[in-house]
Amino acid sequence: MTHVIQDDPAAGSVTARVPAKVNLQLSVGPLRDDGYHDLVTVFHAVSLFDEVTVTSAERTSVVVSGEGGPAVPLGPANLAVRAAVALARATGRRGKGLGGVKIEIRKRIPVAAGLAGGSADAAAALVACNELWRAGLSTAKLSEIGAQIGSDVPFALIGGTAVGLGRGERLTRALVSGSYHWVLAFGATGLPTPDVFAACDRLRAARAKDDEAPDVPAPRLSTKLMAALRSGDPAAVGPLLTNDLQPAALSLQPLLRRALQAGKEHGALGAMVSGSGPTCAFLAADANAARDLAVADTGAGVCRAVVQVSGPAPGASVVESGALA
Ligand code: ATP
Repeated sequence: MTHVIQDDPAAGSVTARVPAKVNLQLSVGPLRDDGYHDLVTVFHAVSLFDEVTVTSAERTSVVVSGEGGPAVPLGPANLAVRAAVALARATGRRGKGLGGVKIEIRKRIPVAAGLAGGSADAAAALVACNELWRAGLSTAKLSEIGAQIGSDVPFALIGGTAVGLGRGERLTRALVSGSYHWVLAFGATGLPTPDVFAACDRLRAARAKDDEAPDVPAPRLSTKLMAALRSGDPAAVGPLLTNDLQPAALSLQPLLRRALQAGKEHGALGAMVSGSGPTCAFLAADANAARDLAVADTGAGVCRAVVQVSGPAPGASVVESGALA
């Protein structure tokens, strides 16, 4: 008989799955003194998932495979690493010689694509480490830790459809009926989010009168969009999709105009740039229409790759747990 002596109660490995998001509404307020913008956004999680496996190890490390893997930082700048370190600190593990964690990220969410893939990985790492370390933190507490890492992390934890205020981290669940079928068209290269906000500010300043600050109204939630989501009718939702960052994303990647046009010509009920782009999101009437749209968009050849997804998808959750108590 072999006795395994386990002085660290957290051993084994845990895998969590986490969705990408699109923004059904993204309204951007004026530039604040602290350099941020107040947002009103409607997040919607879709069935394009990254997977994150955490395994007890002597030292913390990260490996990344899959979509855009080489573009993801492998050191402490990786958002999943930052999340694991923040959780270790919050639960008092750090500095107690309890070892680190090996983090393996399998990416399907493209990097710098406006789909919040980095924040998603941070959320998955929080959920997986919470289980591995049997820390027992509530989603609300994980969300508080996650918000320090990225404003989209709290949404990746809860998934579904939710209204986000502030920088997007103050969330309220939205009432939504039915499911929505989407086609996502990926751009050839990523768009860094700060560049897109800066382009948005420049476009607004260029529209303003000489020497006057741009007249940007405070962002407001679209009650029409919320009513359409409650009705569960994609034909009502499609025309109400809005994104204040879209003109900025189009100014940085003019080819996106053709992608949006192609989607509309192929029967999309709504077409928009997702978040800061460059991914374009097309809403279809149902799964069959989404398949036809995906085929047509692929044939049009104006984007790098096309996937068919649905929403609302659940937030970060453990899919496999080999945590040893
Ligand atoms: P958002 O929509 O949240 O503004 P995004 O979807 O456009 O972001 P991400 O895929 O989240 O972009 O990546 C943004 C940057 O974050 C990348 O350029 C990358 O350097 C960095 N990053 C750090 N950790 C990760 C990670 N685990 N996955 C992807 N990117 C990461």
